[in-house]
Amino acid sequence: MNLLEHQGKYLLGSVGLSVPQGQIVDDAEAAASAAATLGGRVVCKAQITAGKRGKSGAVRIVDSADAVHDVAREILGAEVNGHRVESLLVEQAVDIASELYAAVLDDPAGKSPVLLFSTAGGMDIEEVNAAHPERVHRLPLDVRDGLPEAATRELLVASGLDRPDVAPVAEALAGIYRLYREADASLVEVNPLVVTTDGAVVAVDAKVTIDPASTHRQSDLLDGLPGGRPSGGGTDLERRGAEQGLSYIELDGDVGVLANGAGLTMTTLDAITHFGGRPANFLEIGGDAYTKATPALELVLSNPRVRSLLVNFCGAFARTDVMTDGVVRAIEELRPEVPISFTIHGTGEVEAIELVRERLGVQPYDLMDDAVQAAIADAHRETEEVSA
Ligand code: GDP
Ligand code: MN
Repeated sequence: MNLLEHQGKYLLGSVGLSVPQGQIVDDAEAAASAAATLGGRVVCKAQITAGKRGKSGAVRIVDSADAVHDVAREILGAEVNGHRVESLLVEQAVDIASELYAAVLDDPAGKSPVLLFSTAGGMDIEEVNAAHPERVHRLPLDVRDGLPEAATRELLVASGLDRPDVAPVAEALAGIYRLYREADASLVEVNPLVVTTDGAVVAVDAKVTIDPASTHRQSDLLDGLPGGRPSGGGTDLERRGAEQGLSYIELDGDVGVLANGAGLTMTTLDAITHFGGRPANFLEIGGDAYTKATPALELVLSNPRVRSLLVNFCGAFARTDVMTDGVVRAIEELRPEVPISFTIHGTGEVEAIELVRERLGVQPYDLMDDAVQAAIADAHRETEEVSA
């Protein structure tokens, strides 16, 4: 469960971190009057659970209350990275001396929490890690010991952080860790954690994810958040999927995926990535693929980034010809413009393959790997034509 930035900051404030003074608003007039109350330079920040708002023009530093009115009108109601902006955080601008990255998160590979820290804050940490892995410092944690003070300070010194900043940053990290533990978070990320020109350490951004398995014992915390319990968030398409009873997760690639069962879908996503492609979605449809084929396909194709479609069915108890019949009907109804690659295995595959060949004039691939590579090639080909 992803919290909005202002909710994350509220929680960070409760564990002792400094956060900028601000107000949450949902119309331009309120934004302007918040700016006037706060005084001086303010930052207008779209409250959505997607990141990289800065790059998308959804975080704006503004000098006057009049200008805030215009900026608020521009951002409120707009769609940013697939999310509709319903509220705006208007905050006192911070004078930044340096931007740091700090996070405590679950590390599934290490089967423990991990502290991540970098002096290259304000940037996408994955990009920093790819270009300069030596600049991302990690400390695996043991929940029985908590955040070890000496090791934390050593890490901060090794990261190149200015000596006078080590103590206040270590204190901020202790708060971040405490929130991670007490809120049953899977992620508490502050990027940037800022050292101001006055030497104060301030959380300028906040991303907090609460483990959905813990929401039952975190109801006081969730109900006590400003703005109330988060709706669950998600992109417009993800919400649409949820309304139709489909577990759909929007990804940032271009190969649309329709497979049966979560396991096969995950395998398909892995195979796409393995062959150098990028999946556009996760979508779980099970044996009921037959009845949900049309809304499922509609959802997959509604993602504007989709340039090709990969259908991967594998049936044991659930018959693949029944699933395929549903999908073929959906394709006949929706007439997608993107190329489609099929691969079908298991119970009913002979009938299923015949169905696809006859009704759609498409030959399914014998091997999943070949279907995956064809779908990736289609996606790349389309992209080239579009950009040419
Ligand atoms: P994100 O792009 O969604 O991660 O949004 P952030 O809240 O991290 O803001 C993006 C960037 O805007 C930050 O890394 C800062 O460089 C800048 N920024 C945000 N708030 C302030 C502020 O109060 N003062 C200044 N000078 N820059 C800010
Ligand atoms: Mn940020």
